[in-house]
Amino acid sequence: MKFYILTLFPEMVEQGLTTSIIGRAVANGLLSVEAVNIRDYTTDRHKKVDDYPYGGGAGMVMQAQPIYDAWCAVKKKCNSPARTIYLTPQAPVFHQAMAKELAEEENLILLCGHYEGVDERVLEEIVTDYVSIGDYVLTGGELAAMVVCDAISRMVPGVLTNEESGTTESLEGGLLEYPQYSRPEEWNGKKVPEILLSGDHAKVDAWRRKQSILRTAERRPDLLDQAVLTEEERKEWA
Ligand code: SAM
Repeated sequence: MKFYILTLFPEMVEQGLTTSIIGRAVANGLLSVEAVNIRDYTTDRHKKVDDYPYGGGAGMVMQAQPIYDAWCAVKKKCNSPARTIYLTPQAPVFHQAMAKELAEEENLILLCGHYEGVDERVLEEIVTDYVSIGDYVLTGGELAAMVVCDAISRMVPGVLTNEESGTTESLEGGLLEYPQYSRPEEWNGKKVPEILLSGDHAKVDAWRRKQSILRTAERRPDLLDQAVLTEEERKEWA
C-alpha cells in the first residue's frame, strides 16, 4: 500500500511515520510513505503557496495551483485509481471501520491543510473523501494524516505480527478491550486477577469478554447499541 501525503511540512510526517511498527513495515516494503512538498510545485517566483482570503477575514488560505499540480504529479505515479482524502475538522470523524475499509486501497493520497485552510475550488476538483480526526481544530493536517495512516497501516495484512494482531483489540465487535496485565504478579500492592493465572483458557476468555462489556458500558456507553452482544450479555452487563 502506498500513502502519498501532500503537505507544506514533509519532515513532520516523514519523522512520524518511519519509526516503530510502521517504520518496520516501510523497511520491509509492505508500505510506502511519500511526503510530497506542495511548495515544490508552486509557480510563484517567491515560492508562495498561500494568499489572503477573498471577502476578508483572518489568516491565509492555501492556493489551488500548487496543490493541484502536486496532486497531478502524484496521480501520474499511481498505477491504479487513488482516493484523495482531505483532512479537515469539517467532516465525519474517523473510526476503526473506516481504517479497515481504506486499508483495502492500493494507493491513498492525503492532503494536509494549514493556516485557515484550502481554496475550495481545488478541493472540489480532487477530493473524494473528507475526514476529521475529532471535534477540535489543529494547526495543520499533518498530525491528522499521521493518525489516519497509522490506523490504516495496522489493518494492512502483514504489518502487525501474530503477537501484535489487531483482531482482539478495542473496537473489534464494537467493544473496548479488556484490561491487560504483565509481570510481576504483584505490583504496588495490587495483584493480577487470579483467573488470568489459572491456565484455564475458556475461563480467561469468558472473564475478558465480561470485562470488555463492563468497560464499554462504563467508559463508552454510546458504543453499546451497535455492539454485537448476546441477549444474556446485554441483560446482565450492558
Ligand atoms: N479554518 C478551518 C476550519 O474552520 O475548518 C480550520 C483550519 S485548521 C487551523 C488548518 C488545517 O488543519 C485544516 O485545513 C486541516 O487540514 C487541519 N485540521 C484541523 N483540525 C483538524 C481535524 N480535527 N481533523 C483533521 N484535520 C484537521
